[in-house]
Amino acid sequence: MSTDIEGIGMTSQRTRERLINRLCEQGIVNINVLEVMRTMPRHIFLDEALSHRAYEDTSLPIGYKQTLSQPYIVAKMTELILSGNKINKVLEIGTGSGYQCAVLSQLVKKVYSVERIEPLLIQARKRFQDLGIKNIETKFSDGKLGWEEKAPFDAIIATAASDELPQQLLNQLSPNGIIVLPLKTQSGQELRVFSRVKNTNETEERFIEPVRFVPMLSGVTK
Ligand code: SAH
Repeated sequence: MSTDIEGIGMTSQRTRERLINRLCEQGIVNINVLEVMRTMPRHIFLDEALSHRAYEDTSLPIGYKQTLSQPYIVAKMTELILSGNKINKVLEIGTGSGYQCAVLSQLVKKVYSVERIEPLLIQARKRFQDLGIKNIETKFSDGKLGWEEKAPFDAIIATAASDELPQQLLNQLSPNGIIVLPLKTQSGQELRVFSRVKNTNETEERFIEPVRFVPMLSGVTK
């Protein structure tokens, strides 16, 4: 973790420790994930009016009807991503505040992230810069299309709920890659992990747990 990140952040260390303990109690076991979440300043990714709530285990609004996920979900999804094979290059759909992306950036070589609401993306880019994070590349675009020029990805994470697994994302996945995606089903949203069945075009799906995300929409908003 760079000293830039450690230097920022005035919230008491004790509040952050409490959050990390809670994540452990909820079953997060990857110590690298816990360590990054201990040091990454979540309050930087929120409006000042909400920053005092940054280390509560809850989702919080980031404007434009979007939300920064609950820390437990960020930790869980990050842990799932890292459970894949040789994860160097990750694609995120839905940069939002940039927090999930920033957490990932400390754990993998390179993160690509796509956002469809331009003002959110501009804010997130500024935060990455302020924190001295240099291994994130972002794009203003509809993430359902993935990011073909940068493919293939070892892992793809969607932080908005989709009706289906977008075919483009599957096409841009490396042969041993995994996709972590909240899927809309008749009984609600389910966090699922998709992977390719070896030497076939078929995908294998694994149910993780019920979740609540904002919807994955099409097109872009300036
Ligand atoms: N990962 C974010 C979560 C933000 S909420 C964070 O850590 O803060 C989900 C985000 O997904 C929103 O910013 C929303 O605009 C974005 N989104 C929804 N559909 C999208 C799409 N098709 N392409 C790109 N981004 C999308």
